[in-house]
Amino acid sequence: MTARVLVVDDIVSNVKLLQARLMAEYFEVLTAANGPEALAICESGQADIVLLDIMMPGMDGYEVCRRLKADARTAHLPVIMVTALDQHSDKLAGLEAGADDFLTKPINDLALTTRVKSLARLKMVTDELQLRVSTGQDFGIEETRPQVIDPKNGREGKLLVVDDRAASYEKVVKTLSVDHEVAVITNPQEALFKAADENYDLVLVSLAIENFDALRLCSQLRSIDRTRMIPLLLIAQEADEMALIRGIDLGVNDYISRPIEPNELRARARTQVKRKRLNDRLRESVQSTMELAVKDSLTGLNNRRYFDSHMHNLFDQAAIAQKPLSLIVMDIDHFKHVNDTYGHQAGDDVLKTFAERLCKNVRGKDLACRFGGEEFVIAMPDTDQELAFVVADRMRREVAAHPFVVAGGGVQISVTVSAGVSSISGAEDSVESMLKRADDALYAAKRNGRNQVISEAA
Ligand code: GH3
Ligand code: MG
Ligand code: MG
Repeated sequence: MTARVLVVDDIVSNVKLLQARLMAEYFEVLTAANGPEALAICESGQADIVLLDIMMPGMDGYEVCRRLKADARTAHLPVIMVTALDQHSDKLAGLEAGADDFLTKPINDLALTTRVKSLARLKMVTDELQLRVSTGQDFGIEETRPQVIDPKNGREGKLLVVDDRAASYEKVVKTLSVDHEVAVITNPQEALFKAADENYDLVLVSLAIENFDALRLCSQLRSIDRTRMIPLLLIAQEADEMALIRGIDLGVNDYISRPIEPNELRARARTQVKRKRLNDRLRESVQSTMELAVKDSLTGLNNRRYFDSHMHNLFDQAAIAQKPLSLIVMDIDHFKHVNDTYGHQAGDDVLKTFAERLCKNVRGKDLACRFGGEEFVIAMPDTDQELAFVVADRMRREVAAHPFVVAGGGVQISVTVSAGVSSISGAEDSVESMLKRADDALYAAKRNGRNQVISEAA
């Protein structure tokens, strides 16, 4: 993973030092010597993360941070405040200015890389969401717009603390309870099940659990599907650097060292909760974008695009296994007349109801699609032509026998449907040819007076 890190510091040697360390970790580095310069770079969209010195002449780091967070163009940029001393008041002021994280000078290498990587991941997710928002807008898909900024700003999460010593977890719980709902579990083995059962936004694991390898738990949490996406934060002793490095290799997202500074813990937790939420949204949006791409919006049936790709798979499977496969193409009779008589809305209602009835008449493994307009296609694996004809004709009779009720129950519309059936004839056959034969049969049914099913010519 690479990211463009903007280092902001008025002292050239500080900039050079951070630049060298970040470049050694393959980050790209931009630099700025003062606040206004930093703001200009951020507004132009060049930076992914900002490492911000607090003490600068003119505009100080807090002010830069406040301005970044107040501007919609830069509000989602993660900001790490670099404080000269380990001053709690500095961190508190940074937190109030909207900082996402802190580093204390002299900067520890592990801390620097972990924080920057963790925030680079967060930035990647927000960028991806942003991209989807604009793609969605291009397609006119407004309702799937994922929210790029967490309205709760990483608060009100559901957290799990895994620690077996009351003396150590009490403070953690007290600190985090300001922002979140926090549960504690003292048995690491149970923690795995609890994490899999409940939907946590963050799991905090103490490295100092007695008689248990905390990193094993982290590795297990990373290997189970249901917990893979939960952010993990390690609580370490000052001397645990080796364990931390292993933890980060295992996929732990962040850590905090004892003695725990409450504001720092809160900031870390909020960053992880934010990222979890954005990730969840991203996944939901992928899901709905995929559905939109393959579903017809009026009827909820698969669309032609989906049919085209999936039908080829069904065809290949049938051809290889030498099993039957049939196609039914159905078209509502005189549908133009329905629209002309009852209006377009009533026409839409008929199409929707027709699709529902269609679904009731086919099996789960059949593929029912709206092919376009008032034309539907059903692909039926393991079904020979005779059986496909029976299914199509049952559907035809059902439609003809029960008028469609539309306009909130006020109007009944009698509808009939015609259908053509074709079946695979060996591996030499093709999807295109099957469709053509079913279409020809449908056309024959229309010519023959409609409200009937005809199988392809032998
Ligand atoms: P035939 O029996 O020969 O199939 O006659 P038909 O009137 O059903 O066929 P035609 O292809 O002439 O007309 C189809 C009509 O379906 C015209 C079109 O306006 C209407 N239609 C297509 N898509 C929709 C839709 O999504 N909603 C509504 N309400 N009508 C649609
Ligand atoms: Mg029609
Ligand atoms: Mg038509």
